Amino acid sequence: MSVRLIFRCQFCNSQPDPLTQISLEKSVPELMWGAYEDAMPQKWLIWHGRGLYGPPRYACNVHRGDLVAYLREHYGTIGWHPWKRPPYPTNLRNPDKERAIAVGGRSAMPKWGYGPQVK
Ligand SMILES: [Zn+2]
Repeated sequence: MSVRLIFRCQFCNSQPDPLTQISLEKSVPELMWGAYEDAMPQKWLIWHGRGLYGPPRYACNVHRGDLVAYLREHYGTIGWHPWKRPPYPTNLRNPDKERAIAVGGRSAMPKWGYGPQVK
């Protein structure tokens, strides 16, 4: 038995393409709350609500701005989370990995003095 999760943009009811669907599925087990996340490649916007911030919400690339506006209107007085500005992370689980990529990976010969290098 396989469970297929259905994601829909809450504004236009559209569904993601298969790759974006995978990104959205990966986001589900996250124990995040009050955080935005981008789902690539179609760049859907995920809102990890929970608790005071309500249920998780999803918007397609066209309506991601509408979702941000909606959240700020409904939850903007609760805390700062809905006001977070882009860019949003594409994978909230591996901030260390993203940081490692940004500094050029695990080089055996750190070129000190040049700071982080992005190649
Ligand atoms: Zn939409």
